Amino acid sequence: SQIRILQSNCIGCGTCVQLCPFEALRLLEGQANVDQDRCVVCGSCVPVCPADAIVDDSLPDNFMPRDSMVDWSIPDESGVKSNEASFSGICVYAEHADGALVPSVPEVIGAARQLAEGTGLPVSAVLLGSEIGHLTGELLELGVDEVWLVDSPNLQPYAEDAEARCMSELLAELKPAIVLGSGTRRGRSIFPRVAARLDTGLCADCISLSLDKETGHLVVTRPAYGGSIVAKIVIPHQRPQMATIKEHVFRSAAKVSTPSGIVRDMSSQIRVSKTVLEILEIVRGRADPANLLQADTIVAVGRGIKKAENLPLIYEFADAIGASVGATRAAVDLGWIHPSHQIGQTGSIVKPRVYFACGISGALQHTVGMDEAETIIAVNSDPNAPIFDLATYGIVGDLLEVIPAFIETLKVEKQ
Ligand code: FAD
Repeated sequence: SQIRILQSNCIGCGTCVQLCPFEALRLLEGQANVDQDRCVVCGSCVPVCPADAIVDDSLPDNFMPRDSMVDWSIPDESGVKSNEASFSGICVYAEHADGALVPSVPEVIGAARQLAEGTGLPVSAVLLGSEIGHLTGELLELGVDEVWLVDSPNLQPYAEDAEARCMSELLAELKPAIVLGSGTRRGRSIFPRVAARLDTGLCADCISLSLDKETGHLVVTRPAYGGSIVAKIVIPHQRPQMATIKEHVFRSAAKVSTPSGIVRDMSSQIRVSKTVLEILEIVRGRADPANLLQADTIVAVGRGIKKAENLPLIYEFADAIGASVGATRAAVDLGWIHPSHQIGQTGSIVKPRVYFACGISGALQHTVGMDEAETIIAVNSDPNAPIFDLATYGIVGDLLEVIPAFIETLKVEKQ
């Protein structure tokens, strides 16, 4: 699929050249020309051509162009957008990876269903990707009223620029009043791009959601200023109102016994351009917060590790038991470990089966992020450290001696 110039129509006005976001068009001998290596087939040039000289081959024959993108951002005199009434319902971004919905999706649907309760607002799910039709059933089981599906080979993993463009078009077409996603790495990549494209407001990492009784606006709550205050935020003038929720805060949607929702396949109506990225290799790193959020076992370190040079010991232990590595803010602030490892009020909220707290005092701002772990094993040299009040098992001792002893024991057991 590609953009083509009908040379017989082109009048060489240069409008498309000026508009192309990818600098893929230029004038050669008074006619527009496409540099196919640069062109991502975003389609921006097609409607602006005054001479109908640009053709988008990627569009299916039955493609119906959306009639307008107008009125997304201009409030009327009273500050309220004139077309506000045309936006309705709550829409959830159905993130997936490796052919399965990610664990936060039921939480986002749970948050949406809770919000919709008693209002009659429909809850839909946006499902974008390549060969992902098999996920629609699971979304319907989670109680969504409609799944909005766009299945395209251009929507490969990490093609997030293409995905954001596609999602923007879809939302512009179907006009939900509220769009919710999860504060995962992918959510953080997609949502700001979509909000910018739709010129609307986005609130990230929310910990509670409600609807204002008088105005019906979404009211979101999130920590602000590093967690020193809790802010309530509304997006009164723009639509849709977009928010990502903090993982592990909202209750997952319960499965419905007889799903009654429908699948709306929008694949032939929504333009899906190519990504500008070339994915060479996907390497799952330790710093990927997703590893921490989905981890079954976490080994977390605090200031008690004393210096960054002692961290390899923690990684060796974590590797030996197949755990992810977490950290307190103290360890992060000291520059010993990347902020993506931080657990707590201003970091990730985790719910692993086993949580090792190594050299961690147990400050409230840390424990709110891990106190729902099934089993907590604390290693601390201070017998009065508050972490022992929470721990299932406590070991009073120097972690620089206790952790090597754990590793040795594991080695012996493996032999
Ligand atoms: P410390 O409190 O200094 O504890 C170190 C512990 O190591 C001590 O208990 C000590 O006895 C033990 N120790 C020392 N040497 C050894 C040894 N050799 N062997 C074993 N144990 C040893 N913190 C977070 O973690 N996450 C957050 O998201 C977060 N958000 C915050 C938000 C705000 C607004 C504020 C004000 C603070 C926030 N904090 C957060 C910071 C939090 O209050 C604590 O300061 C921090 O959690 C302490 O980290 P720590 O336990 O590593 O360090």
